[in-house]
Amino acid sequence: MSGKLIVVSNRIPTAATPAGGLVYALHETLRKTGGIWVGSDPEFHASPSRSLTEIGDQSAYRRLAFGLTELDHQTFYLGFANSVLWPVCHRRGDLVRMSRRFEQGYRRVNKRLAQQIFEVAKVDDTIWVHDYHFFPLASELRKLGFEGKIGFFLHIPFPALGDLGALPLEASLARWLADYDLVGLQTRADVARCLEMFRSELGAELMNDGKIKYGDQTVGVRSFPIGIDVDTFVATAKRPMADAKLAADLSGDIVIGVDRLDYSKGLPNRFRAFGRYLETRTDKSRRASLLQIAPPTREEVTAYQDIRHELEELAGRLNGENAELDWTPLRYIHRNIDRNLLAKLYRIARVGLVTPFADGMNLVAKEYIAAQDPNDPGVLVLSRMAGAAEDMTQALLVNPYDIEEMSEALTQALNMPLQERQDRYEACMAQVKATDVGRWSENYLSALKDSRRKLSWDSFSSTG
Ligand code: ADP
Repeated sequence: MSGKLIVVSNRIPTAATPAGGLVYALHETLRKTGGIWVGSDPEFHASPSRSLTEIGDQSAYRRLAFGLTELDHQTFYLGFANSVLWPVCHRRGDLVRMSRRFEQGYRRVNKRLAQQIFEVAKVDDTIWVHDYHFFPLASELRKLGFEGKIGFFLHIPFPALGDLGALPLEASLARWLADYDLVGLQTRADVARCLEMFRSELGAELMNDGKIKYGDQTVGVRSFPIGIDVDTFVATAKRPMADAKLAADLSGDIVIGVDRLDYSKGLPNRFRAFGRYLETRTDKSRRASLLQIAPPTREEVTAYQDIRHELEELAGRLNGENAELDWTPLRYIHRNIDRNLLAKLYRIARVGLVTPFADGMNLVAKEYIAAQDPNDPGVLVLSRMAGAAEDMTQALLVNPYDIEEMSEALTQALNMPLQERQDRYEACMAQVKATDVGRWSENYLSALKDSRRKLSWDSFSSTG
């Protein structure tokens, strides 16, 4: 890469070395390449006209924050991003809340951010934009005259053509995405949906190399399944649990679920399926517990308040009907857990229960596998609707709408012989390693480097 790398994401990490996942991977990439990370800092409220503000004193790369006013927060973040785009991409058109103000806020923030980035970007720089908050950013940068490389990665599912009808007419994902050099998606199924949109909405042609041709330009559309930092996670999970009393309390058949409290995660059906498992188990002396860790998220959005109430009611009923004096079948923890402890909880659990209705990838599924003891691994029960299921086919795959099927999968998982558990674990672990997050960012950036937006005569002749 000749110029510098500029990463754009909704949140900017404030810790010197951020913990875990994507943020850690991007931090490591920028630490090696140098460059700039642009994002909103929740601590930082600026007047919208101001330039990006330098935060922290990180020597390897710069961190520049953009400010959001209260109106921006309501319309751009809570409004268009999380009450329109999020439900549309997660097949929940029924939860979309439409308002002209949301769309205006979304455009205003993207336009302003493009101007702010344009002030610091040079033509040979590469800009890597993350997620649904910033679909129009490349279009806005191109309007300002930025000709350099701009890549996009969508972390959530790409919507089906039919669901795009729930977006306002002027919000054209196809036109917005056509201004990027490379559109990265989580799965092959996402790529298929994206290509279908380009063909149907823009009449774009699919070229031999998998790119689309639109007017005199091309856009690469490829899947880059994201993963976790495998070595660190494996090492953390292996260390013994410091709290001996907690370790003793957690003995027995633990089934674990770890999710932000989001309606896309399928939590009510998961609780129902666990209840059904308890009801139908033949050996009543066997006392499995579901440990569900679900920290709150986006609590200002009504749909998130509703799901919280629904779960509290279900949890109360499940324990009321099944608990004994010395046994609580469901432990429902509504807060964040330290990642070191989380890794150990995964390892103790006999079953990882991951049952979203829709999920871009689902990193919890990969963390659960990475945390297992290869000599005595637990079993992953995984929704077919999670991006992770496309490659982790040796998990016990379930339909998250089918309570009976999930309950049967729990029975099968809790009774699975050692050899089968090991075989399934090894197959899943091979996939977890193949998508290590360090390799993910390298693969993406190298594909972006090789991409070419303007059509050359060679590509004309190859498509006939
Ligand atoms: P999403 O990005 O939709 O939240 P993922 O499963 O892809 O879903 O990623 C969630 C990440 O957040 C995982 O790395 C997981 O370990 C972490 N996480 C989820 N819940 C908790 C929690 N209660 N405490 C700590 N980390 C959590």
